[in-house]
Amino acid sequence: MRLIVVGGGLSGLAAAHRAVELARERARPLELTLLEGADRLGGTIQTERRDGFLVECGPDSFLSEKPWALALCRRLGVEDRLIGTDDRFRRVFVVFRGRLHPLPDGFQLLAPTRLGPFLASSLFSWPGKLRMACDLLLPRGGHPDESLGAFVKRRLGREALERVAQPLVGGIYTADPDELSLGATMPRFLEMERRERSVILALWRAARRAPALHAGTSGARWSLFVTFAEGMEELIRRLGTRLPPGAVRLKERAISVAREGGGWRVATAGGAAFTGDALILAPEAHQAARLLRYVDPGLAHLLEGIPHASSATVTLAYRRADIRHPLDGFGFVVPQIERRPVIAGTFSSVKYPGRAPEGHALLRVFVGGALNESVLEADDAALVAIARAELGELLGATGAPLFTRVARYPRAMPQYHVGHGARAEAIELAMARHPGLRLAGGAYRGVGIADCVRSGEDAAEELISKGAEPPSGERRVG
Ligand SMILES: Cc1cc2nc3c(=O)[nH]c(=O)nc-3n(C[C@H](O)[C@H](O)[C@H](O)COP(=O)(O)OP(=O)(O)OC[C@H]3O[C@@H](n4cnc5c(N)ncnc54)[C@H](O)[C@@H]3O)c2cc1C
Repeated sequence: MRLIVVGGGLSGLAAAHRAVELARERARPLELTLLEGADRLGGTIQTERRDGFLVECGPDSFLSEKPWALALCRRLGVEDRLIGTDDRFRRVFVVFRGRLHPLPDGFQLLAPTRLGPFLASSLFSWPGKLRMACDLLLPRGGHPDESLGAFVKRRLGREALERVAQPLVGGIYTADPDELSLGATMPRFLEMERRERSVILALWRAARRAPALHAGTSGARWSLFVTFAEGMEELIRRLGTRLPPGAVRLKERAISVAREGGGWRVATAGGAAFTGDALILAPEAHQAARLLRYVDPGLAHLLEGIPHASSATVTLAYRRADIRHPLDGFGFVVPQIERRPVIAGTFSSVKYPGRAPEGHALLRVFVGGALNESVLEADDAALVAIARAELGELLGATGAPLFTRVARYPRAMPQYHVGHGARAEAIELAMARHPGLRLAGGAYRGVGIADCVRSGEDAAEELISKGAEPPSGERRVG
């Protein structure tokens, strides 16, 4: 089979790697071409070493609860390169009235599971706490495809939404909770209400059944979030080395896709053309939409309808002595109601070992997201100034950082708005009209690293098990 993969981010690489594995297992010939528009593999995943610090420009970890990324690491022989979080500092702070307040112990994304820390918390008012407790009594309600915002307001009240659910979910999905589909992002909460009516009771019972999960670990071996000793790009490098020599074509931006004979033809901006029996499109959904606009305008329209938020990270390296705050947590989130220009901050050198030399600290600030994109109009120097001012006020970080690094991610984070589940189904239905074509990426059935691995691997498996294989070689035109 001649397989073309467009996009050399994690999804495309996972697809290409799985295709190689399956071809080897089944002793079937595979001629693989992976087209990446940029001059490097990895997409949003990018790690840099500088002056003894390790900077993650984009994703800094992945969830160990979802099995696909860990399973891939095992098959690649890099499981021993994984490191967990330093769980002595597991807590997260929430900015409230300009100060950092710890999220009460046992608070699980939307609701409390432990009474003592919740009642003692300075983060919520007494009427707010009482309103959250109403969840224990309220009947079932709502709509199967409700927004996260509507669900939390209905069951736990406005304060729970504004002070915790919005900023925590904002940190994960960079999304507006009033648009975000709960069913497409965190269906377990809908399921809890359906099964047990009260979210608090359901979380509390789950915590009693599985104390390890409640503590955030996914078994004895791994913490909830894991990464690589030398950063997330280790995964990208290892995947790259597992592909056949010459398969990866950097700086080859696909500009159009067409059906040709029983297969596919991809033209690139440099004037080259590649033909294959099968094609996996693994760029962002809006890019896939552009590529497919003449092949299937209806499908392209569905893809174009998936909104993507833009964001940026600003990493700052400090001398530890220049930060007053004890940095006794993984970081902080900033509710929208605080009206600040940043959405979250990570204490990178506290969360993971090996991110900063002794006596130093590495901090990373998130800006932008669906609710705050206008801040990205500022240039890099202005974003650094914003981040410095915020860290100054919130953490007492004084003095000039040793260095800073701004990384921008325009239209990179898919937003699963209400209706996303139905849209994803419609996309899958439309795909059935195109034998030998698959989509992969975070825009469809899960945005995280593990979901992207699964999406890429599924695409390869479906194509290889269907097995299109008219022979003939790759052709370059122009
Ligand atoms: C700032 C940020 C932080 C994140 N942090 C985390 C995290 O900590 N943990 C987590 O689980 N998830 C995180 N995510 C989500 C994570 O990025 C994704 O889960 C995953 O890395 C996306 O991989 P991908 O291959 O689908 O897309 P991308 O990484 O966007 O890769 C797409 C690739 O396709 C290429 N491309 C696009 N168009 C074309 C074309 N026409 N021709 C050729 N190539 C093309 C691009 O150059 C790019 O390399 C984060 C996302 C962002 C934006």
